[in-house]
Formats: sequence, C-alpha cells, structure tokens
Amino acid sequence: MLVGRVSFKHLVSLLLVFIGLATTTAARAAGYRTANFVIEAPSDQLARRIGDAAEQYRHDLAVEWTGQPLPRWSRPCPITAQVAPNLGAGGATSFVFDRGEVFNWTMTIQGSEERILDSVLPHEITHTIFASHFRQPLPRWADEGACTTVEHPVERARQHRMLIEFLRTGRGIAFPEMFAMREYPTDVLPLYAQGYSLARYLIERGGRRRYVAFVGDGLDGNDWAAALGRHYGVGDLANLQQTWLDWVKKGCPAPPAALAAAMPEPANWSPTTRGQSPDPAARRQPSRERLATTTSRQSIYVLQARRTQRQGGGSLATEATPVTRR
Ligand SMILES: [Zn+2]
Repeated sequence: MLVGRVSFKHLVSLLLVFIGLATTTAARAAGYRTANFVIEAPSDQLARRIGDAAEQYRHDLAVEWTGQPLPRWSRPCPITAQVAPNLGAGGATSFVFDRGEVFNWTMTIQGSEERILDSVLPHEITHTIFASHFRQPLPRWADEGACTTVEHPVERARQHRMLIEFLRTGRGIAFPEMFAMREYPTDVLPLYAQGYSLARYLIERGGRRRYVAFVGDGLDGNDWAAALGRHYGVGDLANLQQTWLDWVKKGCPAPPAALAAAMPEPANWSPTTRGQSPDPAARRQPSRERLATTTSRQSIYVLQARRTQRQGGGSLATEATPVTRR
C-alpha cells in the first residue's frame, strides 16, 4: 500500500492550498481607524473595540491628568494588537521628541482582550498623554509609576506584592538615586514597583493633576526636592522616603480627607495645555520654548513593555528599556 505517498501533482496543489491559506490569514488582520489611532488587530470586532477604547482613554485620562482633553494629533498613532487568551500582557509605545515636539507614534500591545482593554491600553495611552503634555522624557519612576496607577487593580496589587518582596530583600532604591534616574536601571522591576507605590502615595494625597503639576515643576527647575516642597509640603527626598516607607509598613492606608485638603496650593501654577504635535497651529507655552532650546538635539525615546509569564503566577510586568538618543 502506498499510504502517505503523495504525487507531485497532488503536492503542488497542496502547496497552493497552503499558500492560499497563508494569504487569507494575513489578509484577515483587520484594520480600524479613529481620529487619533489606526488599529490593526486579529478581527474587525477587536480592532473596533481597541480603537474605541483607545480614544475613550485618551480623552478621559487626559482630562484626569491634565484637566483637559488632548488636541487631535496631526497624525494618528498606529496600534498593532496581538490578542490571545494566554498571551502575556504587555505593550510598547515609541515616539520621537524633537525641538519640543513629539510625534512618530507607534504602539504595539498584546495580551488577552480583557487585560489589553483594562490595563495595557490605559498604561500605554498614559505614556502618550505625558509625552504630549511634557514634551520631554520624565524621570522613569514618575512615568512608569503613574502609568501603572491606571491599570486594573489585579495588576496594581501584583506590583505592591513585588514591592514588599523587593524591600525585604534589599532591592529597594534610595529616593535620591531613584529621582535622578533618566534611564531604566539594570534591575528594573524594583523601579516599577517602587515608582508605582510612590506615585500612588502622592496621587492619594493631592490627586492626578497636582502630580502632573509637580512633575512639570520638577522638570522645569530640575530641583525635585523644591518641587516636592511646593506641591506636597515635603522639601527633602530622604524625609519623603522615610514617610513613604512608614506608610508602606502600615499597609498603605488611605489619607484622611483633611490631609489632602490641607496640601499647599502652589501659587504660581495653573493648568496649561501644551500642543503636542508638529502642527504649526499647536499652542506653545513660553516655558516650553525655553525647553525647546535646551533640548534641541533630536532624541528618540522608546518605551517598551514586555511581560513574561511567571511560573504559575500569571503575567509579570517588566519593561525593557531601549532608549536611543542622537
Ligand atoms: Zn510603561
């Protein structure tokens, strides 16, 4: 019997079938376009869900962080989504800062549909909101820490558990060192966990808009202790570190409402809109003009997120750190 033998002619037709299947599969990646995003996803339905969610987050989170929606980008941000139930959740967003502008967005995201929609997307969108608002790289702890605060509670709880582990095993980062970090350290996970915890601590005391004002103030003067003093009444990094550590040891209790209300209101701060595209019509602030001259060299700032499966523990948040400047 000639079981399993295939004639040449049969083989050719089989190959043609395979080629046809491959072509069909490739063509099946569906696209969807919104005002600010172009989504490529495995199906029309997913592309539409992700695109609509991305626009919603872009609007809602910009209002939460800065008090107003972002103006439309001059070019949409392409989002490539890999969606599968057991895919580790993660994302990567890259953009270019040049002369005080930010553009050339690209975003890739992956994970289960649920985790993409409730964690990866809001995290990555927050990176784009900060890049649009500040138009320069933030200290890593402040960027990743804040982006993690908009993730699903399950993801945030994971960061907290890791923080406790890091603090117990001597992997915590001294605040003066953490505040000075412009790049990711080799041991990156503690930066995420600790950055998230400190961002949460500050946001619970003054809200998201004060946090953004504090970061902007710190970036403008490059004096983080002074910015902390102005926005949170703690003008010393070592002091803040001790207060934060005590708070963590007590189980991160919510602050009394009176405390947040008693925070100093910075006298010289008002919410500003910073245009974020090369669109010549974009509004510019005088302070950003100064920034544009100080950061005149072109820089590429890439944020990459990668989450790998931890043995039996679901996805573990990590972000690789290729940052290129030229
Ligand atoms: Zn991130």
